[in-house]
This record gives sequence, C-alpha cells and structure tokens, in this order.
Amino acid sequence: MSDGPKPQPGIMEISLYEGGASSLAGVENVIKLSSNENPWGPSDKAVGAVAKAARTLHRYPGTDHAELRKAIGEVHGLDPNRIICGAGSDEVLTWIAAAYAGPGDEIIVTEHGFSLYPIIAHGVGAVPVEVPERDRVVDVDRILEAVTMRTRVVYIANPANPTGTMVGQAELARLAAGLPPQVVLVLDGAYAEFVEAFDGGAALVDRFPNVVMTRTFSKIYGLGGLRIGWGYASPGIIAVLNRLRAPFNLSTAQLLAAEAAVRDRAHVDRCRTENERLRNWLAHALAEHGVPSDTSSANFVLARFADAAEADACDAWLRQEGVIVRKVAGYKLPNCLRITVGDEASCRRVAHLVGQFKGRPDNG
Ligand SMILES: *Cc1c(COP(=O)(O)O)cnc(C)c1O
Repeated sequence: MSDGPKPQPGIMEISLYEGGASSLAGVENVIKLSSNENPWGPSDKAVGAVAKAARTLHRYPGTDHAELRKAIGEVHGLDPNRIICGAGSDEVLTWIAAAYAGPGDEIIVTEHGFSLYPIIAHGVGAVPVEVPERDRVVDVDRILEAVTMRTRVVYIANPANPTGTMVGQAELARLAAGLPPQVVLVLDGAYAEFVEAFDGGAALVDRFPNVVMTRTFSKIYGLGGLRIGWGYASPGIIAVLNRLRAPFNLSTAQLLAAEAAVRDRAHVDRCRTENERLRNWLAHALAEHGVPSDTSSANFVLARFADAAEADACDAWLRQEGVIVRKVAGYKLPNCLRITVGDEASCRRVAHLVGQFKGRPDNG
C-alpha cells in the first residue's frame, strides 16, 4: 500500500459528489424531481444543432468558442472577450480554484452552500472554510468576518442551491466592496435565468475586477446531459483561466447546441414563466399540507418537515410511490427535502403524495 503513487494533499479528503438518483428498483415510470432538470427539455433548435453536429464528428471543434461567446454576449449585453466557456459551469468553477488557490490557502463556502465547492477546494489542496448562514440565507457579514490572510476564493450561488434563497444586489455589492482585492468572489448564477430581469451579478463583475460570474446551460436550458457552462470576468481573470482551459474542452455538438439554445429566447421565457407558476403552486400546496418552504427563486422548493425523522419517512413514502426527490442532510438540512419543480402532472402528484403522508396517523 504505502509504496504506491501518492496523491496530492487534499485529494483523499474529498467526499464524492452524490448526484440525484434517477431510478427505483422495481418501479417503472418514476418521476424524477431530484436534479433540478428542466421538465420540458431543451429547445428544439438545440436538438437540431446536435443532429447537425453529428455529421461532422470527424472534425476537431474550434478552440476559441468565438461564435458561442458572441451569441452569449449579444443575448446578455456582455463583452464576448470577457466570456469563457467550459464543460458545464463545474469546469469554470474548478479553474478558478486551480488558478488562485493552493495547499494551505482558504476557500470560503457557506453553511448550506453547493457541495461541489468543498470538493473543488480539497482538489487544489486548499481548506474549505464554512461560514454560517442566517435562516438559510447567505450572510454577508459572516463571510467578511471569516476572511484571513490565506483567503483566496469565496463561492456563493445566487439563487442558492439547495435553499433557493437569494441575497439582494445591495448586499452583494457590499460583499464585493468589503473583500480584499486579491480574493476572488465567485457568483454562481446556475439559477439566474429563473429570476426575471436578473443579471446574475454581471454588473458587479463590471465594477469589481475580482468578481467572477458563472452560468450554465444545465438548468433552464435543459442541457445538463451535454455539459456546457460559461464564466464572465475581468480581462485579467479571463486571461488566467484561458491558460488552464484545454484547447478542445467543448465539442462541436456542445458549441452548436449552446449557441442555438441561448438564441432561443422564446423557449427560455416559456420555461421561466411555467416554472414560476408551478413553483408557486407547489409551495402553496405543500404549505397547505403543513410543509412550509422559504420563498424560492429557482426551479425547486426546499420543503421543511418537523424533523429529520419526518423528512426521511416522507422521502421513503415518495419513493415507494415512484417519486424521487433529494435528501439534503449532507447540506446540514436533515429536516428538509429538495423538490424540483416538474411539469404540472408531477407537481400535482408530489403535492398529493405529501398530503397523503401528512394525513397518515403514523407519519415519521
Ligand atoms: C446545477 C448547478 C450548477 C451547474 O453545474 P453544471 O456543471 O453547469 O451542470 C452549478 N452550480 C450550482 C449551485 C448548481 O446547482
């Protein structure tokens, strides 16, 4: 054992990421509400682009992603030279730590923050420093108090996963202004498109050279299976991240599908509108059954139960009935279940089942 190759410090401290389950033994037609996927799927135009790309699989893709960056820039009103594209926003989030943090450095994450952030921190040998939230909302003061000489990166998602809560623009500006200029503030906007007229933090990137915004095609665009994301940052940070980016990190299919998807605003608008309508309906229906949730700005609801035992019992009941939601005990939320907003039938089904569960004399 001891003579084998030794990994870099931190690697073996990584707890493997657990994705949402997608099947249940012995159950056909499961309803999967565990991974915040778009129940309506991708734009037809993106599907057409993948079919077209299939004809050129013998060709290498482009390396500069110029067409995709141009499309993103036009749609969001951003300078394409300050955009970088990755294999999911995961890849962009990982480059940031690899570029700016190393062994012994500190990376600030929050109490209920996305589980990928500590994985990324350990991956570069850095220490993830977890700061408390306030009633499941990121707390700017606690983050600022946690900054030390060794802090290199701060990761927050806005809206956050798995809480669905948001930090207001003024608070975020206060955070950006309060951080030392050598600390990179990452605003993970994976769910930004679900908030009407929200820029995901782009204006803060323009004001502060140490702020990075990341975005993804995995959520509202319904392209999680294809792996495309992007980042927006100062020219200095983009120049650094581009040195870590593998030349062919995105395939032609990824590039063409993402370009078609970002230009199909009608599909995005429809998905946002439907998500909001069904999310509000679901939150209300769950509350009527005695299961409250914080106001969500994303495509899921964090359902709060009396205690961990009740949450676990409800999860087991839903599975028995063919519905998969997400347990979030690993996010320090053992009394909660994260339920993705599905299509109308799925929302009605899950609300109905939770109602049945709460009505049972022996629940939990
Ligand atoms: C889903 C999600 C992402 C997206 O990851 P991809 O690699 O782009 O699929 C990023 N951040 C958060 C908080 C998420 O929930």
